[in-house]
This record gives sequence, C-alpha cells and structure tokens, in this order.
Amino acid sequence: MSDKSAHSNYTRATFDEVMVPNYNPATIIPERGDGSRVWDQDGNDYVDFAGGIAVTALGHNHPALVKALKDQADKIWHLSNVFTNKPALELADKLTKATFADKVFFANSGGEANEAAFKLVRKYAHDNFGPEKSEIISFKQSFHGRTLFTVCVGGQPKYTEGFEPLPGGISHAEYNNLQSLEAIISDKTCAVVMEPVQGEGGIVPATEEFVKGVRALCDKHNALLVFDEVQTGVGRTGHLYAYMGMGVTPDILTTAKAMGGGFPIGAMLTTDKIAASFVPGTHGSTYGGNPLGCAVSNAVFDTINTPEMLQSVLDKSAKIVARLEEIGKKYDVFSSVRGRGLLLGAVLNEKWQGKARQFIEAGWQHGVMVLVAGMNVVRLAPALNITDEEIEDGLNRFEKAVASIA
Ligand SMILES: *Cc1c(COP(=O)(O)O)cnc(C)c1O
Repeated sequence: MSDKSAHSNYTRATFDEVMVPNYNPATIIPERGDGSRVWDQDGNDYVDFAGGIAVTALGHNHPALVKALKDQADKIWHLSNVFTNKPALELADKLTKATFADKVFFANSGGEANEAAFKLVRKYAHDNFGPEKSEIISFKQSFHGRTLFTVCVGGQPKYTEGFEPLPGGISHAEYNNLQSLEAIISDKTCAVVMEPVQGEGGIVPATEEFVKGVRALCDKHNALLVFDEVQTGVGRTGHLYAYMGMGVTPDILTTAKAMGGGFPIGAMLTTDKIAASFVPGTHGSTYGGNPLGCAVSNAVFDTINTPEMLQSVLDKSAKIVARLEEIGKKYDVFSSVRGRGLLLGAVLNEKWQGKARQFIEAGWQHGVMVLVAGMNVVRLAPALNITDEEIEDGLNRFEKAVASIA
C-alpha cells in the first residue's frame, strides 16, 4: 500500500488530481446532514434548498429511511433478476395502485428509466405497426439523461456535440408550442416524450392547453405519450406525479431522483398492453429492482404519498415564491419566479443574464445551497418536509447572498 491511500486530509484539490474532469464541484465538501441542514468537513452549516438536485425529498438522515435501509441491510442486499423479491413486489404493487400504470420496470437512475422507455416505444411500435413507425419526438431544451440515446432525445445540442455518430429517428419541437409539434408529428411517430415541467431547461411548466393538445396529437397518430417525471415525480409538484394535476394521462412514465430519497433507484411505469412488448430477454438490468433500493423506496413512498404531505408542498411553495419575489424586487435581480410546488426557478432579469452560477457561489459563502437550471435561472428544489424554520433561515441567508453580489 502506498502512503497516498492513507491520506486523511482530502480537499477540493484532490478532485482535480484523481477525478475525471467532467464536473466542477464546489470547494466545500459536505460531510453529514440532518433534515434540511448540512455540515461540511470544516464544521460550517448550510440550509439545503438543493436537495441533491431534487433527490433528497425527505431531507437527510430521515429516521424512516434509515430504518428501512438498516432493516433490509440485515436481510439481503442483492439477488439479480433470476429471482424476484418482496421489497420490489411491494413497491411495484404500490406504484401501480397509485397511478395509471399496470406494470413497472425497475432501473437505477433516471437515464436508465428513460432508456427503457425509449427502447419500449420503438419495440411496441415495431410489434404493433411495423418498422416504419420508429420516430421519436421530444422538445427543445428538454433533458432526459446522459446515455447516448437519452442525450439525443434530450433537446440540448451541447450534450451531443462531439459524440457523433448519433442514433437517428429523433426530432425536436418547441415546448409549449402545439403548432410546432403538429408540423412534424406523423403516422411514423412512435412516441412523443416530454417533461411536465422542464427542469434542467430552466423550470418551465407546460401549459394545460399544450399538454392536452400533445395528448390529442398522440392519439390522432397512434403515438405513445411518455412523461419524463424523473424530476417532477414523487410529490415534488404537490401531486404524487405531476400528470395527476394536469388532466392528462401518459402511456409511459419514468421516475427516479426523489424515488429513493438519495438511494439510487428509478422506474418506468406503463400499461399492460404496452408492457407486453418487453417479453423475456428484450431488456434488463443487473441491479434494477434490488431489495435494498426498493426497501428504501417503499419508505419514501409511504412517507410522501399522504394528503397532508402533498398539501404541505403547495403551502411551502407559496411561502417561498412570495419571499423570492420580494428579494427579486428589492435587489432588482429576478424578472419572475416560476415552477410548480417545490420545483422553483427564479429567472434572472436582463442585467443578470448568464450569471446564475454567481448566485449559488454566493449562497455557499452565506450558508445556503441552491441550484441553477441553465445560465439564467436560480433553481430551488428543497426537501418536501423542510420545516418553516429551515425555510425562514435559508431564505434569510439567501437574501444576504443576493445582497452581497447585487
Ligand atoms: C435528472 C434527470 C434525468 C436523468 O436522471 P439520472 O438519474 O441523472 O440518470 C432525466 N430526466 C429528467 C427530467 C431529469 O431531471
């Protein structure tokens, strides 16, 4: 063993020495958390409005989640898909009872859940209509993951540049613009893929008119409607899934992020009829549906899917929006605050274009964690169970951060 591995004082500089440079993390290194508070390895505390990018929906160190993980850790961790297991069956039972879906496929991340969905729409169309019906339409600025297929379905060219040759049969319409979809959809379209609120693309909610129009165009052309609810799912918008508040039902839904409260798990939900195209051998995952992840996710589901928790998301949202608007006016930084539930975006005004990262860095200096969504939106995705006291403290810190740069 070299002396190097006995190193006890790791810093941000170590990252540059030993990690592939595809990220640019903060200088602070968080070490532990409790509720919506996090402490770094130097003992500084932060109010967490980032939630690990909309993942830790029940905060850090939640007793029910810790218990579920520890209980399952004492039983069995992994079996492979040669066997099924009780936590997975229980979770799939709950998800199908609570949603439009009849069937569940488990994955380990949002990108994998989407990869399964995008393969399934092709397979279903192939089985039921023939190979000509293979085109997938999604929307500009959308984000669906980082595998090669999912970046191509995503609508941000910067994520595909340099990775050519790319998979084909994918095109992009304008979000919230029905004419633009109408112009390219046809009987060759096998699916339309959309986020109910574009997350990475800047926290842009779909209008009700648009979602209903998309559903109608899909029906007209026998195309499946896929909702990517990786970011909007599991209570984030004040509904278990965002579609439930939109008057539209998708054919396939993908979910991940908050689903494990920080433990990696994702899923694709669909109907019996569509699921029938994934016969044995057509798709799979070594870890997907493993007992450890499913046990934690069961506890997340039970804690979040209550009328009280979902209502509290809307109450907290209103409170945060009002204060962000106030801060935006006082320091002349935001032109609007948008989003749904606890997925919120403060949109930078003309003066601050391209400078969202300055706000998160000022936040770290003032003890609050926020996110960006693109270069012009400051994003907040706090835990759904964040307390009033944590909200108040965090927003006071955020105001100080804004004051320091504005
Ligand atoms: C985060 C995200 C993904 C990708 O999820 P990973 O777990 O990072 O693979 C896909 N779609 C949406 C809408 C997301 O927000």
